[in-house]
Amino acid sequence: MKYDILGVMVDNATMDEAVRDISRYFGSKEAHMVVTPNAEILLMCENDRELLQAISKASFVSADGVGVLKAAKILKTPLKEKVAGCDLGFNLLKEAAKGGHGVFLFGAKPGVAEAAAEKLCEKIPGLIISGTRDGYFKPGDDDEIVRQINESGADILWVCLGAPKQEKWMAENKDKLQVSVMLGLGGSLDVYAGNVKRAPKIMIKCKAEWLYRLIKEPWRFSRMIKIPRVVKLAKAELKRRQNNA
Ligand code: UDP
Repeated sequence: MKYDILGVMVDNATMDEAVRDISRYFGSKEAHMVVTPNAEILLMCENDRELLQAISKASFVSADGVGVLKAAKILKTPLKEKVAGCDLGFNLLKEAAKGGHGVFLFGAKPGVAEAAAEKLCEKIPGLIISGTRDGYFKPGDDDEIVRQINESGADILWVCLGAPKQEKWMAENKDKLQVSVMLGLGGSLDVYAGNVKRAPKIMIKCKAEWLYRLIKEPWRFSRMIKIPRVVKLAKAELKRRQNNA
């Protein structure tokens, strides 16, 4: 079941349901896109048609953040839970390892994907890393990148270029890629390489991961003030829907 949250169709699923549904695509001939929007991405879609169009091509859209959950609640279509991209990506790697599906890690600064690959292999027995590549490239490099990914034989692809670059890149190259699932996962490679720490479990449980990230990376403040704007837009959208009903 998908809900329209400010123009973005978001899947109403728990983490377990998301992992189950997405892993069903493993091994398929078509490349399925998974995107994990937060409040900031919802707002970007307001003024970026190309991003909205890219997201509309996704097979699965998970709600990555309290801002999206808040907007959904205001619109009277509450979502079951937050499905953070970082955790979703990890859980899908566990499924990929069980099924013998290879993974390609694309994105972040040089050396980060390799470091993440090493750490992920320590955490997930049997994980097959088919290839890695950093996320800094020229516009004309796409065909060469697609060739490298296809030649690696990977079935699952992490695309960690940050939003909206990763969503647009996936939509643009979807039909040329011979993977079955590709996920846009922002800064996840930095997290698994150990460059950026996740918040302590208790803070995640108390929905205060944003506070931890803000303390560690104060430049995120300008991004976080986006949540009140999303709340305001959701209230206006609810009023519009009620008037049209
Ligand atoms: N990045 C990249 N290529 C670019 C721009 C960014 O690979 O041209 C990477 C960057 O190094 C970082 C990630 O994209 O690893 C974006 O991380 P951020 O924390 O900003 O994303 P978020 O998780 O907040 O969406």
